[in-house]
Amino acid sequence: PEIIEHLRVEHELSNVSFNTWIKPLKVYKVVDHTVFILVNMNASVEYIDKKYRLPLKVSIAEITEKEFEVVLVSEDDDRLDEIMEMASKASEKKRTKTAAQKAGLNPKYTFDTFVVGGNNSFAHAASLAVAESPGEVYNPLFLYGGVGLGKTHLMHSVAHFILDKNPKKKVLYVTSETFTNELIQALKNPKENSMSDFRDKYRNNDVLLIDDIQFIIGKESTQEEFFHTFNHLHTAGKQIIISSDRPPKDIETLEARLRTRFEWGLIADISAPDYETRMAILQKKIEMDSLQKYNIPDDVLEYIATNVKTNIRELEGSLNKLIALYKLQNNQEQIDIPLAAEALKDIISSQANREVTPELILDVVSEHFGISIADLKSSKRTAEIAIPRQIFMYLCREMTTASLKVMGIVLGGKDHSTINHGIKKIQAEIKENESLSNTIDIIKKKINPV
Ligand code: ADP
Ligand code: MG
Repeated sequence: PEIIEHLRVEHELSNVSFNTWIKPLKVYKVVDHTVFILVNMNASVEYIDKKYRLPLKVSIAEITEKEFEVVLVSEDDDRLDEIMEMASKASEKKRTKTAAQKAGLNPKYTFDTFVVGGNNSFAHAASLAVAESPGEVYNPLFLYGGVGLGKTHLMHSVAHFILDKNPKKKVLYVTSETFTNELIQALKNPKENSMSDFRDKYRNNDVLLIDDIQFIIGKESTQEEFFHTFNHLHTAGKQIIISSDRPPKDIETLEARLRTRFEWGLIADISAPDYETRMAILQKKIEMDSLQKYNIPDDVLEYIATNVKTNIRELEGSLNKLIALYKLQNNQEQIDIPLAAEALKDIISSQANREVTPELILDVVSEHFGISIADLKSSKRTAEIAIPRQIFMYLCREMTTASLKVMGIVLGGKDHSTINHGIKKIQAEIKENESLSNTIDIIKKKINPV
C-alpha cells in the first residue's frame, strides 16, 4: 500500500486512473530481485506494463531502497508457472555471477582462455583435476613459476570451474597480501570477536586459494596463522591451492612445518612458454579482444613472439602497445616490423637491465593496484588513485636517485611541492599503519625481487 500511495502522489494520478489501474494490483511473489505483480484483468497487462511498470519500479526502489525488477503477470495466464521458472533461473544466474565476484575472480581468467603448452601442461592438468574433484585428489595443489607465467590465471580458472558447476560452494581467492593485511586489522581491532571473524572467513570455505605465498615469508605471526588455517581446512578435507614464485624447498626461511605441509599434495611448476605457445597466446588474445580488424601481419606476430620470451603479461602488453601506437599515428602507417620494434623498445630494454627507474616503479604500482598508468598520471584525487600515486612518489625517493622534478615529469607534470607532500605523507603513515607498510614491502619485492 505504501508503494502504491507513493506512486499515486509522485505521478499525480487522477482518482479514476488510480482506481482503475493501480489499486487492484497485488504482489504475487518476490523472488530474489524480482517482484511479480498480479493484474486481475488479463486484457490490461500490456497496457499497465507499458505505462506503469517503470513508475512502479521507481516507487519500489524509493520505498525499499533496493532495486527490483518488476514483472507483471495475469491471474489467468496459463504461462504463470513458466514465467516464474524463467525468472528464478535468471536470478540464479545472477547469483553465480556474484559468487564469482564475491570470490574475487577476474571473469577473463578461465580454462577456456588459457592456452596449454609444454611449459604449463602439467600444472594445467593438475588444476583441472582439482577443479573437477576439489578436496579429493591433490591437496594442497602448489603452483609455482616466475612472474607473468599464468599462476593467477590458472587459480582463477579452478575457482570459476567449481562455482560454475556449483554456485553454492564456498570459494575464496585472496593474495597473501590481503591475508596478511586482514590479519593485521583483526589483531589490532579492539572488538572482541574480530579474530574469530577473521578465522571464520578463512576457515569456513570449501576451497581456499592463496596467491603469491612468498610474500608471507619471514612474517612470523602471519605464517603461524596461515599454518592453523591450513590445518583446519586440510583436516576437514577442504581444498587448498597455493601459488608462489618458487618451490617450497627454495623458500629458506619458511618454517619447516609449513614447508612439509606444502609438500603433502602436488607441486607443479609453470615455466616460460616456447615459441609455438607464445604464438598461440598472441592468436588467442587477438581473438578474445577482437583485434582481427587490425589485420596484424604474421611476420609482426612472429617478431613479437621471437623477442618477448619470459613473461606472458609482457607478451600481451606488446600487442596492446602495438595497437596503441598504430592508433596514435592516425592509421597512416602500416602495422609492420618497424612499428613493432618501436612498441617493444621499452619492454626489451627493461628485460635486459632491470635497473630501478621511476618508469619501472610506475609500471609495478599500476599493476599491483590494478590502476592504469594514465590514471596515476592524471590529477584525479579519489583515494583509490591518490594513495597509489603517493606510494609511487615514496618508492621513487626510497629506491632511486630521481629528483622531485623528474618524478613530477614521470607523473605527467606535477609540481615538486605535490611530490614532496606525497612522500612526507607516506613516510608518516607507514609508521602507524602496519598494513600499508606490508603493502609497500610487497611492492618493493615486486620491483626488486631477491
Ligand atoms: P602470474 O600470476 O604467474 O604472475 P598471470 O596469471 O597474472 O601470471 O598471467 C599474466 C597474464 O598472462 C595474464 O593476463 C594471463 O591471462 C596471461 N596468461 C598467462 N598464461 C597464459 C596462458 N597459458 N594462456 C593465455 N593467457 C595466459
Ligand atoms: Mg599472479
